[in-house]
Amino acid sequence: MITDGDGGGPSLAELAVQGVPVAAWCQACGHHRLLPVTELLRRLHGRTRVGAVARRLCCTACGGRRIETRPHYRGLGVVAGHR
Ligand SMILES: [Zn+2]
Repeated sequence: MITDGDGGGPSLAELAVQGVPVAAWCQACGHHRLLPVTELLRRLHGRTRVGAVARRLCCTACGGRRIETRPHYRGLGVVAGHR
């Protein structure tokens, strides 16, 4: 089964334009990190999909390779402090 690097989501180049970092987390231990796109672009092509970045990573906490990556858009998943 070959998906040719298509893990879904926008490409790194698109996120770089928007200034959106990539959130990556480990399904084994729950460890998560925010990765600046500029850092990823030093190692990966701009056409790489966010979902495919996960395959290039392994967990810095447990060494696991079941990583999931998503764009980390501001305003999503943030709990507003309004009452
Ligand atoms: Zn882990």
